[in-house]
Amino acid sequence: MTTCSHLDQISDVTLQGNGCVDCLAVGDSWIHLRLCMTCGYVGCCDSSKNKHASAHARSSDHPIVESFEPGEDWLWCYVDEVAFLVDDAPTLSYSPGNTEEVGRVI
Ligand SMILES: [Zn+2]
Ligand SMILES: [Zn+2]
Ligand SMILES: [Zn+2]
Repeated sequence: MTTCSHLDQISDVTLQGNGCVDCLAVGDSWIHLRLCMTCGYVGCCDSSKNKHASAHARSSDHPIVESFEPGEDWLWCYVDEVAFLVDDAPTLSYSPGNTEEVGRVI
């Protein structure tokens, strides 16, 4: 069940990078990636030392990210702190099917 009230912030985003945008900028590494569903920012998860995804969510007021890990298509809202799946979500730029196109950098 979805208890997130920010679903209107999900849009058909264009990826801003093949890895964490800010980690790539400084040559750092990450554990997992999250994709901002509002602007396409790719950031590292809270298990990564830099936690760019959550930092982006706070600073940009973009609450919803999707897991950027191949085979995972769950969404996470940083405001409501709830994970969910959206069956009728808009067409996403990333899906497990185009993993090759996106490229894995880990
Ligand atoms: Zn929410
Ligand atoms: Zn990062
Ligand atoms: Zn964003």
